[in-house]
Amino acid sequence: MANTVTTSTHRSGPVDQILLCPACGTQNEQPRTFQFDSGRGVTAWARCNHCDTYFLTSTYDPQVETDHTRHMAWGNEDEGAALNQRRRYGFVAALDRIEELGYGGGKILDVGCSFGGILLEAKKRGFECAGVDIVPEAVAYVQGLGISAEECSSLHDCTLFSRQSPADVISVLDAHIYWPNQPAELRAAYDLLRENGLLVIRAITKSALVTAGRFVGSFSPGISRKLIRRAISDHRFSMPLKSLLNTVEEVGFEIVSASPRGTRDTREMPLDTQAAHHVGTLLWHGLGVSIAPSTLIFARKKQST
Ligand SMILES: [Zn+2]
Repeated sequence: MANTVTTSTHRSGPVDQILLCPACGTQNEQPRTFQFDSGRGVTAWARCNHCDTYFLTSTYDPQVETDHTRHMAWGNEDEGAALNQRRRYGFVAALDRIEELGYGGGKILDVGCSFGGILLEAKKRGFECAGVDIVPEAVAYVQGLGISAEECSSLHDCTLFSRQSPADVISVLDAHIYWPNQPAELRAAYDLLRENGLLVIRAITKSALVTAGRFVGSFSPGISRKLIRRAISDHRFSMPLKSLLNTVEEVGFEIVSASPRGTRDTREMPLDTQAAHHVGTLLWHGLGVSIAPSTLIFARKKQST
């Protein structure tokens, strides 16, 4: 059925190449491919046979990605600093939970720290803060706030922490969907954390919306395009929550909690987005079904044996 969908926004069919799924790291032979109209224009996508993630098939180029990010709200100073204010509610909710789990005042490394984001709130609460980002202007801005920061396109290049001098908490808020190889980045996070250290991921989990968009495509191409564009935004992949939790566990973390609760950035969200969050939270807590657009995951590094 899916392979017969042939509207202008998403053609699908097998492809004769082997593609690495950036979300779970599996090599896919002849995955189904699609053309999606996303925040990056009309681009080629595939769906992983192993974890059901939709992913952008173009090669990851750190320089292209940095230039792309500069054009987004979180990649330039004027909008980025204003965004910190609008997103404060989400940062407060994440930090409340980090403190509740016993990591208050610890060393926190924020991955994709933008123009300060959660680190501004964490600093006020007495955390020892550090951040990495791919945008040099963001890194310079954060350094100007008196916070350690480093320009890195991969956590493997991060020198702010090490096995000898590890972090207590690593946060990845709305950033995992830009990773070219998520398992590799999670392993790097694992190495930079102390034993029992905490990994916090605010994950975008909208792959069901992409699937819904594909299926309405045959009779309503306009709605289909809108749904898919909204689900994907400018992300590099769209992963089901269950697959993400499996990937995090495979790297050596134990899931402490995963819930849509506390993921709302702001109280100024459009009403339909707020409603989706409420319904998502109810379904997740009542039935264990995830349709929420984002999920806050807390995972603890298991002690090595
Ligand atoms: Zn995959």
